[in-house]
Amino acid sequence: MKKRIYKVVVCRNCGHIQITYAEASYRCFKCGKIVTIDSDIVMLKTFDPLKAREKLISLWSAKQIEFKKLK
Ligand SMILES: [Zn+2]
Repeated sequence: MKKRIYKVVVCRNCGHIQITYAEASYRCFKCGKIVTIDSDIVMLKTFDPLKAREKLISLWSAKQIEFKKLK
């Protein structure tokens, strides 16, 4: 069985952060755009889905802090 590589990716169009295991491109959950996967949008690559989730949560909370500062 082939192991999936989980990637934490940031949408180029709207900045939404999510996890994908697609290889070449994925569809953003938030804006619906097809985003090509390359090294500038990949924050983390891992075989461990828990690690991917942890990174995702830490990026989300960092983003919320930024958002609060802007207000
Ligand atoms: Zn998006």
